[in-house]
Amino acid sequence: MQTLTRSAAMTVRQQLAAVRVAGYFYAVDLGDPVRPQHHRVGINGECTCSLGRACPAVDAVRSYLAEGGQRAERPPFGYYPVRPARCPVCHANTATAESLSSRNRGEGWICPSGKSHYWQHRATISAMRRKLVAHGKAV
Ligand SMILES: [Zn+2]
Ligand SMILES: [Zn+2]
Repeated sequence: MQTLTRSAAMTVRQQLAAVRVAGYFYAVDLGDPVRPQHHRVGINGECTCSLGRACPAVDAVRSYLAEGGQRAERPPFGYYPVRPARCPVCHANTATAESLSSRNRGEGWICPSGKSHYWQHRATISAMRRKLVAHGKAV
């Protein structure tokens, strides 16, 4: 048995990994010897486990897609099942902010600006949505 830590992550044998699409996520099975065995990787390229983008499940998804694997479902416009890996405003790394998460908006996040870029980005989404509706495009 192998417990997954940052240093052990590199030794996981990728050929044992099985990837399948589960809605907006990739469900990754890293094989029986690895604990935790099951991982969920978001379309932002980060695993929902504590290793985040350092998780070997992320590499498993990358090779799965490189080999022509099926892509996860695209969420509706403006909905984030997982936070974006980088802030859409300043492009710095984001961190999850549960207090900003909602059923309609998805997972909330903060960046080095705090909450201000999050709300700036939500305002951009609302403006784009109004424009699309005005042009008769359902979103
Ligand atoms: Zn993981
Ligand atoms: Zn930002």
